Amino acid sequence: MKTRIKNILQAKPVGQHVSVAGWVRTKRDTGSFSFIEVNDGSCLANLQIIGDEKLENYESEIKQLSTGTSVMVEGVLQESPAKGQDVELHATRFRVIGKADPETYPLQKKRHSFEFLRELSHLRPRTNALGAVARVRSRLSYAVHKFFQEREFVQVHTPIITTSDCEGAGEMFQVTTGLEKTKAEHFFGRSAGLTVSGQLQAEVYALALGDVYTFGPTFRAENSNTSRHLSEFWMLEPEMAFCDLQGNMEIAEEMLKYLLSDAMTNCPEDMLLFDKFIEKGLLKKLQGIVDKEFAHITYTEAVERLKKAKKKFEYPIDWGRDLQSEHERYLSEDVFQCPITVTDYPASIKPFYMRVNDDNKTVAAMDILVPGIGEIVGGSQREERYDVLESRMIEAGIDLADYSWYMDLRRYGSVPHSGFGLGFERLVQFVTGMANIREAIAFPRTPGSAPC
Ligand code: ATP
Ligand code: MN
Repeated sequence: MKTRIKNILQAKPVGQHVSVAGWVRTKRDTGSFSFIEVNDGSCLANLQIIGDEKLENYESEIKQLSTGTSVMVEGVLQESPAKGQDVELHATRFRVIGKADPETYPLQKKRHSFEFLRELSHLRPRTNALGAVARVRSRLSYAVHKFFQEREFVQVHTPIITTSDCEGAGEMFQVTTGLEKTKAEHFFGRSAGLTVSGQLQAEVYALALGDVYTFGPTFRAENSNTSRHLSEFWMLEPEMAFCDLQGNMEIAEEMLKYLLSDAMTNCPEDMLLFDKFIEKGLLKKLQGIVDKEFAHITYTEAVERLKKAKKKFEYPIDWGRDLQSEHERYLSEDVFQCPITVTDYPASIKPFYMRVNDDNKTVAAMDILVPGIGEIVGGSQREERYDVLESRMIEAGIDLADYSWYMDLRRYGSVPHSGFGLGFERLVQFVTGMANIREAIAFPRTPGSAPC
């Protein structure tokens, strides 16, 4: 049975016989023995292995080891005289499993750019940085479930193939067999697409189970080639019955702080790597966010601030226009220097399901904007009044017949309810300090690119 290197480096069972399995990072020969650094992906650190000429394959295999080769090693753990490590493994059996030709293996010792590594999405998780992102992402995903399960939220698996487009037409990938000619021949009897959000279905379950969340893949066919957009991404969407906008904002803030702190506590080495090499001062920034209340501001106030700003923006800002990323970043980076929750956006720029405020001009929406990224969370209180919802849908040109199930929720036992969507890759990006969202997901899909 192999032991994970992370466990060995934590428990340091000196004197014990262990076996490990991983990939060679480096090898150095000195006279009758070699130092071999092996990484097995369980943690950032490598385990140093000492192989000497007493091993039967020392000359034939070990001396020829090259970066990327997979190995299985048995040996005895010893205290290490070397600086920077406590233990090392003295090999008693050293098996080479799969060779990696040094002439062609693309991940050589030097640092590679993230752009270059994107072309190698099948090998990039073997690098320190992308391996660390994968571990932090996994931990964050676990922490999402932990946070909501600890609070008695029920997870709902909402569908990936959907017939409702809740964000407005144009962004959906169509699902077809490719053979249909008429609507009646559609596989589902009507046109269907990949989900852009699980919210509407999450609402169904919130109005039966109270507090729910859905967490899964989401697809947007928008042609935005930015450092914050993917065509396939993961979205976390909690939905809470008997909850107004205030309650919604509170849970979102509590959740974000919980997730940041969970990653710092449980992935300390990986986080230190990001702090050192990806974004200097990252840990201090994240801890500062955990310790401080988010700023709160209405959309109307935000627009006033932006109009007074000395900074020149590419896009004009006026009441009734949507905030662009440059505006969002200016507010969180320059004005408040912390995450801010912006509420009460104009009804005209937000979807039909957001609850209309008493002023009849704005809706009970809330976006959370963070430094470096802009919008990370978008949410709202949902319109629970049948008549108001109906007139908003008619205004938006939505076919009511398609949404009778959604209207039924307002017809039978309607309650005030709220929820939000957190873009999971934007969270991963924020926590790791990665400049581009393509490093926050294992296999990024963007317009023109879906390598493997
Ligand atoms: P943006 O204005 O940045 O495109 P949005 O208003 O379209 O965001 P929502 O529809 O509110 O976003 O989706 C909820 C959350 O999902 C966003 O706050 C963001 O974190 C994330 N998100 C939205 N679109 C994408 C995308 N294409 N790639 C990755 N994450 C996304
Ligand atoms: Mn968008």
